[in-house]
Amino acid sequence: MRYDVVVVGAGIAGPILARNLAKQGFDVLMIDKKAEIGSPKRCAEGLGIGNFKKYDIPLDKRFINREIYGAAIYSPNGHKLELRYNRVSGVILERKIFDKMLAYYAGKAGAEVMAKTEATGLIRSDGKIKGIKARHEGEPLEIHADIIVAADGVESRVARWAGINSFLPPHELDSAYEYEMILEGFEFDPDMIHLYFGNEVAPRGYVWIFPKDDDRANVGIGINGDNPNTAKYYLEKWLKENNIKGSKILEVNVGGVPVGGFLKELTKENVVVVGDAARQVNPMHGGGMAEAMEAATIASKWISRALEEGDLSLLENYTTEWWANDGERLMKVLEIRKISEKLSDDELDAAVQALSGADAEKLAAGDYRQVFKTLIKHPKILLKPKMLKLLREAL
Ligand SMILES: Cc1cc2nc3c(=O)[nH]c(=O)nc-3n(C[C@H](O)[C@H](O)[C@H](O)COP(=O)(O)OP(=O)(O)OC[C@H]3O[C@@H](n4cnc5c(N)ncnc54)[C@H](O)[C@@H]3O)c2cc1C
Repeated sequence: MRYDVVVVGAGIAGPILARNLAKQGFDVLMIDKKAEIGSPKRCAEGLGIGNFKKYDIPLDKRFINREIYGAAIYSPNGHKLELRYNRVSGVILERKIFDKMLAYYAGKAGAEVMAKTEATGLIRSDGKIKGIKARHEGEPLEIHADIIVAADGVESRVARWAGINSFLPPHELDSAYEYEMILEGFEFDPDMIHLYFGNEVAPRGYVWIFPKDDDRANVGIGINGDNPNTAKYYLEKWLKENNIKGSKILEVNVGGVPVGGFLKELTKENVVVVGDAARQVNPMHGGGMAEAMEAATIASKWISRALEEGDLSLLENYTTEWWANDGERLMKVLEIRKISEKLSDDELDAAVQALSGADAEKLAAGDYRQVFKTLIKHPKILLKPKMLKLLREAL
């Protein structure tokens, strides 16, 4: 088997990249170890509406569970900050269908797709990487390709095989735990996502409710991966404290979210790393689908140029372009996350109350710096010297 490009992983980054390259006429094979692409999923399924147009994905009702009109943020003392829009701001997906449809779009564009095919190593000869070794339905397989794409998620092995330092210490990982459940006896607005903050609620993270029905939702939590207690412990505690019966659980999701920074080297020789495999995740909220789409878009541009011009050194431009744009922006978000995780509950309360005056659009767009500028002037913050100092550091 020989291809221009072999893509390992058919989550989000893999199919976008495979589709873009296949559209341009390159021979692309995308493999995934899952027997059914998209399933099982590990995701709360929230995605900003702008990403569909930006990455040329149809708004297909088959994978859109419901439209969302904003977010409600709850501070430890229960203060509620509502960021409501009079238009759709995002959607809750059915990711099992979404991932499969993204693979379908890649296939329709001309890429070959093989489910139940696991990459097991790299083929090397004459000191060069020539492709990947895989296992398809238990049978060994050799796939030769000019370029290998590691889109194999947070547990990526392909990047490591290529010699990229992808060691992830537990502190740089958030541990996530989620139920899709019927929320009996708990009122929530199903048109909004709901985020609960507090050091006792979710250390370094938050509890989320991403509605899928009036009474059904993805209810999950992310906490620092080196916490002595588990994410499940904190989620169960929160459910109990809110008198939510945990007796109607439809699905359990457990996963790691890389929130401690991004791979410095996004390529090595002819291997290109995208998405969670490169830790391209927003370190503030842990969402990585939009970041995976952006990385796949930049990477596919430079893979196409490298193949057209027969010059693999052009792949390095992917690292340069990603770091100059998303990388720089997300590093600032990481700095701010590191500051916000030091806040006491009292300070979190003050921040959420003060944010009531901030620009909702800017907050939703992740323009944290602008929001901090608003915060710093708020009387509640002015009275808190530690917080004022932290905010000044962030600006
Ligand atoms: C609990 C939880 C909730 C989340 N909620 C959200 C959310 O609401 N919004 C959001 O934007 N992000 C969310 N995320 C993050 C989001 O799921 C990821 O950032 C996103 O899926 C990254 O896409 P990807 O293509 O890089 O990797 P993935 O989607 O993880 O895809 C990687 C694929 O590679 C395959 N694979 C791995 N190894 C091999 C191998 N050796 N051979 C073949 N195939 C292989 C896997 O089977 C998988 O299909 C959440 C994460 C978790 C854990």
